Amino acid sequence: MPHDVVDLRSDTLTLPTSAMREAMARAEVGDDVWEEDPTVQRLEAMAAARLGKETGLFVASGTMGNLVSVVSQTRPGQEIVLDADSHIFNYEVAGSAVIGGVQTHPIRTERGFLSPEQVAGAIRPSNVHIPVTGLVCVENTHNRHGGAVCTPEDIAAVAAVAHRAGVPVHLDGARLFNAAVALGRPARDFAAPVDSVTFCVSKGLGAPVGSVVCGTRDFIARARRVRKMVGGGMRQVGVLAAAGIVALEHMVDRLAEDHADARRLAEGLAALPKLRVDVARVQTNIVIFAVDRPGGAAELVAGAAARKIKIHAIGPASIRCVTHKDVDDADIERALPAFAEITRAW
Ligand SMILES: *Cc1c(COP(=O)(O)O)cnc(C)c1O
Repeated sequence: MPHDVVDLRSDTLTLPTSAMREAMARAEVGDDVWEEDPTVQRLEAMAAARLGKETGLFVASGTMGNLVSVVSQTRPGQEIVLDADSHIFNYEVAGSAVIGGVQTHPIRTERGFLSPEQVAGAIRPSNVHIPVTGLVCVENTHNRHGGAVCTPEDIAAVAAVAHRAGVPVHLDGARLFNAAVALGRPARDFAAPVDSVTFCVSKGLGAPVGSVVCGTRDFIARARRVRKMVGGGMRQVGVLAAAGIVALEHMVDRLAEDHADARRLAEGLAALPKLRVDVARVQTNIVIFAVDRPGGAAELVAGAAARKIKIHAIGPASIRCVTHKDVDDADIERALPAFAEITRAW
């Protein structure tokens, strides 16, 4: 059945599959604050194995995963180094500052990825006036940079600089499996150089809720306390973890289809007047494009909505489209002529 509405706003809009709903209904559960939910424990073990870490912690969201990772690895008054376009700096309601009492040290980068030189320059010297650098954060794939991918070697180079200074590294891998599929590398290669890593099962992997944080047993024990502190200690939450297990088992390889759809969408958009998209930069499931016409982004959003196509403006002249499992090739082939019709007169 063709979709009535083509929804390209976000991969968070994906609906659970019937296999997920069945697994959720059947899930064996217990009180997870008492560490007695076998399904949560299975998901955590599975995630840790995939990422090559000792253990994992199921959390309510990517935002909570980043928050517990930052708070468990820093002390109030310290500073965290991150890219100025990072999700942690822009979209997490200043949680690290409010809950963790840390200061953010954002650095402008070209594609969202700090270079080893930038990290070396940002790590603070020991001086009574100056805050102590507590953590370096990296993001892969990069949300605000259109799903850009960095390699495991890029992460390792940054982590080497941080570790030499005694500073741990956190990887915000909300879409880590998109990076892994795009480069044909196992997810553990990206996680190996870092001390903590988090990924979402609720985005392209299609589960309704949740993220998993992975790292050492000691780190996860601290993260578990912070999760409790921020109200994330959930009880029979195996009903949610069950969908996450299906996501990890069955939804990773198909991300390649989303990447192909995004590429096709970008190529089509690039051919339209007043739309500017760098097709070579579309590496995963996100397409960010510029609209070179005053009010054009709003016009395109409204025109698309009138044709039952949902897209999202991320700025007055900028639109983000995201492909996912509930968008197929037919939807892309329907969206492109609609965009062409709207922009024809421009
Ligand atoms: C979506 C996202 C998050 C946050 O995940 P939520 O589950 O929406 O809280 C964190 N980091 C990045 C890079 C993201 O894209």
